[in-house]
Amino acid sequence: MALVAIVDDRVTNRNIFSKLAASIAPDIHVHAFADPREALAWATENTPDLIITDYKMPEMDGAEFVRALRTAPGAADVPVVVITVYEERAYRLRALEAGATDFLNSPVDHHEFITRTRNLLALRHHQKLLAQRAENLAQELADSERSRERAIRDSIERLAQVIDTLPVLINAVDREGRTLFVNAFETEFFNVDPANVVGRPLAELTGQTNAERNRMLDQLVFTTGKALPAFEEDLVGASGRRRSFLTTKTPLRDHTAMVTGVLTSSLDITAHKRTEEHLRYLAHHDPLTALPNRTLLAERLRAAIARARRGDKIFALHLIDLDGFKAVNDVHGHSVGDRFLKAVGARLSQVVRQSDTLARLGGDEFAILQSEVGSNYDVAEFAARIADAIAAFADPDLQHMKATASIGVAIHPNDGADAEDLLRNADLAMYKAKGEGGNAYCLFAADMQARARNALNLEADLRDALARDEFVLHYQPQFEISGNTIIGVEALLRWNRPGLGLVGPGTFLPHAEENGLIIPINEWVLRRACADACRWQRAGLPLFRVAINMSPIQFRKKNVPLQVARILSESGLDPRRLELELTENIVMQDLDAVATDLRELNRLGVSIAIDDFGTGYSSLSYIKKLPVQRIKIDQSFVRNMAQDPNDAAIVRAIIALGRSLSLDVMAEGVETERQLQSLKESGCGFAQGFLLGRPMPGLEIEALFGAPASFARTA
Ligand code: C2E
Ligand code: MG
Ligand code: MG
Repeated sequence: MALVAIVDDRVTNRNIFSKLAASIAPDIHVHAFADPREALAWATENTPDLIITDYKMPEMDGAEFVRALRTAPGAADVPVVVITVYEERAYRLRALEAGATDFLNSPVDHHEFITRTRNLLALRHHQKLLAQRAENLAQELADSERSRERAIRDSIERLAQVIDTLPVLINAVDREGRTLFVNAFETEFFNVDPANVVGRPLAELTGQTNAERNRMLDQLVFTTGKALPAFEEDLVGASGRRRSFLTTKTPLRDHTAMVTGVLTSSLDITAHKRTEEHLRYLAHHDPLTALPNRTLLAERLRAAIARARRGDKIFALHLIDLDGFKAVNDVHGHSVGDRFLKAVGARLSQVVRQSDTLARLGGDEFAILQSEVGSNYDVAEFAARIADAIAAFADPDLQHMKATASIGVAIHPNDGADAEDLLRNADLAMYKAKGEGGNAYCLFAADMQARARNALNLEADLRDALARDEFVLHYQPQFEISGNTIIGVEALLRWNRPGLGLVGPGTFLPHAEENGLIIPINEWVLRRACADACRWQRAGLPLFRVAINMSPIQFRKKNVPLQVARILSESGLDPRRLELELTENIVMQDLDAVATDLRELNRLGVSIAIDDFGTGYSSLSYIKKLPVQRIKIDQSFVRNMAQDPNDAAIVRAIIALGRSLSLDVMAEGVETERQLQSLKESGCGFAQGFLLGRPMPGLEIEALFGAPASFARTA
């Protein structure tokens, strides 16, 4: 069906045109208007398929009518034929400009009228069909776009559901630390309303305890653009329960590959840790008495020795062997024997202090590591108390069965520098006590008076040594593993003792710590090392550091930053070439004061390393608080790496810890290629040890650099 409008002020024309129009095709509806304004009003409600209008009309001419019509909705492309008696081009142009489609001359030729209007209607029909098709197509496209979007939305929702149900804490933050996303597991863990977390600082969610480290690690991901190696951490949830997690942090990137966020996921490994702890407990305890076993005692000895090297008080090892226990077993049987051993273990644990270690070494042999001993007399007194406690012990559940013990004692450092020496000497002393009839104790070096005299002599000798300049520094090169290049040296003290030759620090430094001489000695070390390093600096040796070992007494008694600044300026050494090595016990003695000193040293340009790491507290919390640049894994772990999986695990954990805090990690005491290889594989950056270079006089260090580019290993 087509709708045709006729506009003409003359009734005759209207009738003729209406009739002609109606004859174009069978289903044509014709509307005729005398007044063009009425036609315009009608056209706002109806959309005709063709309009035939006279040009010359009293109210408005054909051109004006067409212009007005074209503004009506849907009338922009309706064909309009203008009937004009005028031949002049000017009128036609006006009508064309206004939007007319075609012209018919008046008087109208009927045949021409019908032909033209039929063509225009056919054209209009096609136009409408095309428009309809285009609209359908657009609709179809819109529909499919909508369904694609819906599919994406569905899969994102499903993904979010999966992320929400995973038993893993997952969150993402932006550069400012604001939360972008938190999964349900995490909001439940911290008991917060999921609706309120997005856009707020993550610290509000997780609490302040971990916030500072979290921020630091997130910034690290932003600046490096790299994921961090997984690390373990403990988190306390809203319920107050502490749980262990294995956490990873990875960068989130936008389509231009820019890092816009950090995704943190923490896997709950509490159960796994418990199993691990249980296994560790089993490996370190005696199943019968639940006391520490030989392995754990050796570990504690090792730590005590490392602490004693610098500053801790002396300690003693008591070996306790029951007298005549074999008879108990023979007469009463093994199960009674076992019950008796348990009872003795319980009795001994009443004698020891919290800081001591009581262990059962096997059979009827126990040991006590007595820590923080004031003098040799304390040791003897304690041994006597142990002997008395056992002799006085009678177990009512075991027919008041009684026993005595033979006790052998070795005191560090005089009776042995390492665990094996101490155990062997304590054993010898124990056999001496047994040989004398038992129920007695025996000190390895019984002549305590002679020993006290020796200590006094040593003090006088050390004073002389300072005055006579008998101290010497040796330097041990430190290597960057991957490039096999020397990056620094550690200054190690030697004493050129008259009549004895060069002696190592283990024999005299513990005494110097005790009598305070360590202060002038270490000042001498600092001066000499800075002077040597400054000579190397002037000689143009490649920039490398000299590391100096510090004593806790220095931090307690001296203003270390002031002293270091003074000696640096006297020597003219670039402060960046100086590193100070501190042990964990130095740091722990007064964490805040030491942290202030270290920050000041850092400001000078001096770097700080934590020495013998792993033998002390080895806790993340203090490392985090300190301006430390390097940690040095203690040589005892490196030495046993190949044999003891525990030690290998500790080494790997320290390396991972160092990496997660952006600290350099150096392994000490590397003696074999195999150790070096496995350190390299674990990602350890630096190493020091006899394999790479022994401590040597300064002149030999200079000789190493004689041929400048050759930093070859010195075996
Ligand atoms: P440290 O700081 O841990 O020094 C490393 C010790 O390990 C040095 O012993 C070094 O000779 C030794 N060493 C290096 N590589 C290996 C290796 O591959 N295998 C083995 N078995 N040992 C290796 P040294 O020179 O006897 O020094 C012992 C400790 O004395 C030092 O331990 C440090 O704590 C202290 N010390 C040394 N010099 C000074 C000093 O000037 N001042 C202070 N306060 N302490 C010092
Ligand atoms: Mg050192
Ligand atoms: Mg060390």
